[in-house]
Amino acid sequence: VTGERIAKAMARAGLCSRREAETWIEAGRVSVNGTVLDTPAFTVTQKDKVYVDGKPLPTRERTRLWLFHKPRGTVTTNKDPEGRKTVFDILPKDMPRVVTVGRLDINTEGLLLLTNDGGLSRVIELPATGWLRRYRVRAFGKVTQEQLDALKDGVAIDGVLYGAIEATLDTEKGDNVWLTIGLREGKNREVKRILEHLDLSVNRLIRISFGPFQLGDLGEGELQEIRGRVLRDQL
Ligand code: URA
Repeated sequence: VTGERIAKAMARAGLCSRREAETWIEAGRVSVNGTVLDTPAFTVTQKDKVYVDGKPLPTRERTRLWLFHKPRGTVTTNKDPEGRKTVFDILPKDMPRVVTVGRLDINTEGLLLLTNDGGLSRVIELPATGWLRRYRVRAFGKVTQEQLDALKDGVAIDGVLYGAIEATLDTEKGDNVWLTIGLREGKNREVKRILEHLDLSVNRLIRISFGPFQLGDLGEGELQEIRGRVLRDQL
């Protein structure tokens, strides 16, 4: 384990900014392994016992977030009772423990967010957060842009209300249509249910964006961590 500057370790623990940490150290409020520091020019590793005002430095892990391109044929549960392949089975071995932000169906591919922070995951999923989820969809059947426009005001299906649906007809190819669908809540099988309601049967479903994050050219099965400034600005 390589060390890091003590002020950085304190800031990462969520206690204060690096600059504040330096003034606290100079004020004699910080000790390492029982010795009070008098200068911030000091490096610590995870083995060092850092105390601030007599209390151990919280070891809370910093929040991390990844974009993941979920391949078709994987489930977004930790363990599948039917033994199907899960997204966790295909993550790199050195991946920290993470949760998925919401779920995608087994045959859905595309952007899935992963985080080590369960609280963050719950906040992103709240309906009040209202992040837009955009999907590229191929469906069997015929539909007009007028029918799709009517979804803007929402639609109730089997007692569930799906609100504010953005839908565009992109192309017609043979017996299929390609659509882009945008939704601001993550409900069970929502794209399929909404399109079934229009007599369309979904045969390909790709999530291309989720809130501020885009699938872009991330390859199938690939991961990309969102770091630093970008993460702080978005959360
Ligand atoms: N809508 C669906 O029907 N399935 C998904 O996986 C995501 C949105």
